[in-house]
Amino acid sequence: MKSIYHNDFNNQKVLIRVDFNVPLNEKKEVTDNSRIIAAQKTIQKILNDGGIPILMSHLGRPKGEDPNLSLAHIVPEVEKILKVNVVFTHQVIGNKTTEAVNTSKPNQVILLENLRYYKEEKNGDENFAKALSKLGDSYVNDAFGTAHRAHASTAVIAKFFPNNKFAGDLLLKEVESIKKVMNSGEKPILGILGGAKVSSKITIIENIINKVDKLIIGGGMAFTFIKAQGGEIGDSICEDDKMPLALSILKSAKKNKVEILLPLDVVCADSFSNNANKKVCPIDKIPKGWEGMDAGPESLNIFEKAIISSKTILWNGPVGVFEIESFSKGTISVGEYVSKSTKNGSFSLVGGGDSVAAVKQFSFQEKVSYVSTGGGAMLESLEGKILPGIKALY
Ligand code: AMP
Repeated sequence: MKSIYHNDFNNQKVLIRVDFNVPLNEKKEVTDNSRIIAAQKTIQKILNDGGIPILMSHLGRPKGEDPNLSLAHIVPEVEKILKVNVVFTHQVIGNKTTEAVNTSKPNQVILLENLRYYKEEKNGDENFAKALSKLGDSYVNDAFGTAHRAHASTAVIAKFFPNNKFAGDLLLKEVESIKKVMNSGEKPILGILGGAKVSSKITIIENIINKVDKLIIGGGMAFTFIKAQGGEIGDSICEDDKMPLALSILKSAKKNKVEILLPLDVVCADSFSNNANKKVCPIDKIPKGWEGMDAGPESLNIFEKAIISSKTILWNGPVGVFEIESFSKGTISVGEYVSKSTKNGSFSLVGGGDSVAAVKQFSFQEKVSYVSTGGGAMLESLEGKILPGIKALY
């Protein structure tokens, strides 16, 4: 896979697939610009080389042409962040776009209309990809968040640039951080898996079980493991049909000499609310009418020791119902331990799903090594899948 840093884009028109799928408010203003900021380095590199970036993205899930989901809404924000003039084409392909591209000047950025106005984008239509490819001299993919989709602009288009396809700065960072954990992580390597359900994390567990030295299993998914071993879990969330699987995961961990750390105690509640009565129970002795909502003090103690003594950390999923303040302490504490371990020199990747939301909510982004920008794409990478958008760049 060639990186943008291995090429000079001077005088080139460069098609860049970015992920500008940003949230908009009722006034159609961008409420979170982090995805635009994340693409800045790649766009800037092309501009600095003297190339003209042609940005392509989707926004939301339009059914045909939906003015509410026009990328025109984000032009002011893109201009503000990039500090350059953005030419918006009001269409994806067609005369207006071709003209805008042909008359573009250095230090200008072209932004195409929402790719998903065309069903051909999601269908991975080759003719659509070919028509897009005609706009540029080279192709860059910097949309890690959609790299798990085999869409026209994320995967199919690459074949029209056999020698001129490149990975953007953000995509490279994501791929590198996954590699650092999965292939070249310094030992001991720790996985922290949390979240609601075992079923949504099975493939990840199966993929990382022979890569990590230790694995914390926290959050709602821990109860399936506890009940499977004969524990009393009260009204805690549990997937009974996954209990045999939980036992086989424990067996396979033993075989692979992976230490599994399940919570020892939990903060229980008598209802799923911030005002519920609370008490700390051993995780295998939760009375009926009570449910485990957050990691207890003894659990946090063993989690802290494991996190601080690890050199590589992968964190996916909160260890409690962090959205409810009364049950957020466990997840905040894990964030603190991961931050401390990172400060001491370990590499920490937070990726996929709600742990990213938690890390942002409690302001740990700057204190961990890398926070992934791609929810589904990161999950699929952790599951060991080769993403079509990345495969297409080889
Ligand atoms: P996931 O998307 O799989 O990472 O799951 C995240 C969700 O798991 C969050 O909404 C948490 O509130 C939830 N969760 C974490 N711990 C528990 C628990 N003990 N009981 C119920 N839900 C939980």
